[in-house]
Amino acid sequence: MHRQYISILEEIFQIIADSGSPEHTLNRIVALVAQRFSVDVCSVYVYHPAEKRLVLEANVGFKTEPVGAISMRVDQGLTGLAIETMHPVFVVDPSTHPRYKHYPGIGEEAYRTFLGLPLKYHQQILGVLVIQTLSEDGIPSDHIPIFEYIASQISATVAYTGLLANQSRERNGAAMPGPTDTPGDPQSSGRRPYHRNYLRGDPVSPGVADGYAHYLPESIDFDQIRHGVSEQPASEKSRLETAIAASDAQIRRVMEMARELSPEEAAVIDAHLMFLSDPSLKQKIFNRIASGSSAEYALKQVIFEYVDVFRGFADSYLSERAADVLDIGRRVLANLIGADSDFPSTFERPTVIIASDISPVDLLAIRQPALKGMVLSKGGRTSHTVILAKSFEIPVVIGVDDVIETVRQGDRLIVDGMSGFVFANPPPEIREEYQRRQDEEEKLSRQRRLIKDLPAVTRDGLSVSLGANIGLLSDMDLVKKYGAENIGLYRTEFQFLLRKDFPTEEEQFQLYRSMLQSAEGRSVTIRTFDAGGDKFLPYLDAPKEDNPFLGWRSIRLSLDLDAVFRTQIRAMLRASAFGRADILFPMITCVTEVHRIREILASEKTGLDGRKAKYDKNLRVGIMVEVPGTIGILDRLLQYVDFISIGTNDLVQYLLAVDRNNKKVAALYNVLHPSVISAIQEIVTICNRKNVPVNICGEAASRPECLLLFIGMGATRFSMNASAIPAAKDFIRSIRQADARNALDAALCLEDAGAVGRMIQDVMKKAI
Ligand code: PEP
Ligand code: MG
Repeated sequence: MHRQYISILEEIFQIIADSGSPEHTLNRIVALVAQRFSVDVCSVYVYHPAEKRLVLEANVGFKTEPVGAISMRVDQGLTGLAIETMHPVFVVDPSTHPRYKHYPGIGEEAYRTFLGLPLKYHQQILGVLVIQTLSEDGIPSDHIPIFEYIASQISATVAYTGLLANQSRERNGAAMPGPTDTPGDPQSSGRRPYHRNYLRGDPVSPGVADGYAHYLPESIDFDQIRHGVSEQPASEKSRLETAIAASDAQIRRVMEMARELSPEEAAVIDAHLMFLSDPSLKQKIFNRIASGSSAEYALKQVIFEYVDVFRGFADSYLSERAADVLDIGRRVLANLIGADSDFPSTFERPTVIIASDISPVDLLAIRQPALKGMVLSKGGRTSHTVILAKSFEIPVVIGVDDVIETVRQGDRLIVDGMSGFVFANPPPEIREEYQRRQDEEEKLSRQRRLIKDLPAVTRDGLSVSLGANIGLLSDMDLVKKYGAENIGLYRTEFQFLLRKDFPTEEEQFQLYRSMLQSAEGRSVTIRTFDAGGDKFLPYLDAPKEDNPFLGWRSIRLSLDLDAVFRTQIRAMLRASAFGRADILFPMITCVTEVHRIREILASEKTGLDGRKAKYDKNLRVGIMVEVPGTIGILDRLLQYVDFISIGTNDLVQYLLAVDRNNKKVAALYNVLHPSVISAIQEIVTICNRKNVPVNICGEAASRPECLLLFIGMGATRFSMNASAIPAAKDFIRSIRQADARNALDAALCLEDAGAVGRMIQDVMKKAI
């Protein structure tokens, strides 16, 4: 089926996610269908089972605004016939049909075709989608299966999202039966119906994951439970009973296992058990459930009441017990959700990790073929976890606040890393739809890979180099698969996050040599350890900092740990004899650092000369420009380096004072901010003037809208996550540098990132 039809479902999801009221949503859906299929009228009639009537709820194309005013019994009109027969009703010249029902004033008599499609979901009748055209051949009969398909997808989507159920409830005062759990999915049987079965966050790593939800234990906390409601108190009570019993059993097991507990520790655990078995605790939670709260929310409210009481005691022993109460509460909460209390090692089935956030170290520890996707309630677009996930080709959606309230351990999930939708226990229609989309994507990426060996050159002849950012030796497979010309950034620290101690010179040498050899002649820009910030080396023994991104990070740490730094430099120098290596130093702030680095390099080279060890005598030295303060002294810095690499991930966070990993301020983190654009332009212009090669290696380098601006500035070297290269190349081959320059000039006059984004979208639609 044509991609145009397939992607309509995506747009419907989008409409549902963006719209406020059901009326507005339905109206946007009918407008979309009318526009996509060039039909003159599109309407949705909603079925009201109590009265067995169909009411017009959304329409485009009628002369007047008849919504709400037109209704009919199901035994009336062609629309009713679609419900009676439960089949599409297609009629040419409908006014001559015996079931035709005339509504004066809306101009319906002018339409020469009528197609009524029942909207149904399993056994549930939702309504009718009606399409009408002025021309007799406006609906070719071979298009009817396409419309049927669209109607079935609309039905599944609206039923699944509860859209029509809400619509009906509002008008009738009674709810239609809501969507049920996925038939035949054992994971979902016996669960309370969800308030909502889809969620939306920020898509940060593309692709679609289909797997079972698995919570990371430490990420379950009450701050993610905000407003749970339930209409099924009996089942909520029994879930709570089960969770309390499970918690009790777990605590008893801990007690048995830890025989050497001191009397004080045993007393604390005893107190936990007593608290859990206190009937008034249970009763308080039950009361809240009875008044409509979900078990999780009721638990939160009661636990917080106790915490407040304990915290209010003047006696410090008693006030500290608040922490114990919270601990117990969290344990019961984890059991309610069904999460494991241990960190997972292997997954037996396709798995989607759910967590508030996850560190790069943890991701490396749990990475395995069965890990299909991740949904994080916090997280940042350019966090190193996300960067790693992209290189593992694992779809990720971040910023999904209500995930804990919606998803249970073991739920079947679809994670859409392109649109940000996450579906819990989706019905077969949605699973099939995604399967189809995945097939389409694969086809598209196969086509894109056909241009793998073609140059990245704009339509007006500007040659651009596209390199890969890598972190692990295994990434080299992707470099080849996606046709990267070089390795523009090799982040050495990833490889060492999981270790117990700093790697020796020999270990590092072996690794860098393997990397260079498997690069098969491509140049590899090896960056020294960029530890700190969100890449915490467990063996570093660093003090906890209030602002780790502004603290002891990256080159600052390397220069302080002289022996560690020199070891790495020696290993890199020795490896340089085995391929085309460049060496890159991250997070430079001032010229003094560069002088110090050059001294260390020179002395290590002398040392190697003394050992008669081989290394590349012409090894090029570069620095990362990612601290805004370096821009003002760039001309001075450039005297001491052979090239620079712009790290947009950090440059944006430092220029705009926005933590790259903090979801709360994520909306402000935007590389299209005019100040960021002009800062990058200044860097590129200075480098071009001084003839010093400049590479752009942050995540922005793979985004078409940014590429357009960067090319407009005269930048020609980029490096990115390898799998993004084919699309970037495709884009570059479709643009002209002249258009890029115009877009840049326009962007620099605009007020904010939103305006820049809109302007670029327009340029990309029109000029390219
Ligand atoms: C950057 O800051 O843009 C960059 C490439 O480095 P990292 O993401 O590793 O900090
Ligand atoms: Mg950086």
